[in-house]
Amino acid sequence: MIISIASGKGGTGKTTVATNLALSLGSAVQLLDCDVEEPNAHLFIHPNFDQTETVTAPVPEVDMNKCSLCGKCGDICQFKAIVVVGETVLPFEELCHSCGGCMAVCPEKAITEKGRELGVIQKGHCNGIEFIHGKLRVGEAMSPPLIKKVLSYTDPAKLTIVDAPPGTSCPVIESMKPADFVLLVTEPTPFGLYDLKLAVGAVKILNIPCGLVINRSDLGDAKVIEYANQEDLPILMEIPFDRRIAEAYSRGDMIVEVMPEWKERFLALYEKIISHVNDYI
Ligand code: SF4
Ligand code: SF4
Repeated sequence: MIISIASGKGGTGKTTVATNLALSLGSAVQLLDCDVEEPNAHLFIHPNFDQTETVTAPVPEVDMNKCSLCGKCGDICQFKAIVVVGETVLPFEELCHSCGGCMAVCPEKAITEKGRELGVIQKGHCNGIEFIHGKLRVGEAMSPPLIKKVLSYTDPAKLTIVDAPPGTSCPVIESMKPADFVLLVTEPTPFGLYDLKLAVGAVKILNIPCGLVINRSDLGDAKVIEYANQEDLPILMEIPFDRRIAEAYSRGDMIVEVMPEWKERFLALYEKIISHVNDYI
């Protein structure tokens, strides 16, 4: 089973929930950090990394000795990533979506592929948890292919917990697509509610069952709860504001280690998720 943990906005405690849930469940769990622009789950899990892999995307390279300047490559490219300028053909690697269209239509076979580095994937272990994350190259904008690569390591024999990026754009959709359940972490503030509505809209389009965790649940107002009731969204856990939790987070400590009573609460959260997934099938 794959549980994707997402939030409409950053700073809601998504990684806190993902890491503490994984640690509470222990072995036979994979934690995939798909927040490739700013991965931080490793700062809490402290895995021993033993493998690093560079991830590349294929982009076109043009042999001008073969090119007849026909312009077909530029015509087919939907992203303006390859253009004929005067007597030359210019590929713009940053815009390329690696569809291979230009190479397929080139009548002179002048286009070949080369790899453009997107980032790296690191794999490691900690307390029986298999941990994998992607780190997008600084300056790189194309995160979905790297997220796909992280997700390609999903082991069907294990429970997979995905720490999705914040927001509701393409990288988040990519991280939620394979999930059996999406856990949305939110906070009871106007900003939290606004972004939660966007995230719920995305999950509904994907037709995946979802539930809420309300972080700092005793601060703010009741509008998130009212919205959850309206939309029939189950509230599976509430985490009240607690100075000890905030201090543990700032030190990079896990809640379930600093306050062991929380382990039972995260295990109860998992049981509720299982129950909702079973009801959905
Ligand atoms: S591979 Fe696709 S996206 Fe990239 S330049 Fe060629 S046609 Fe455009
Ligand atoms: S399609 Fe091939 S031959 Fe035509 S302009 Fe592009 S690279 Fe040159």
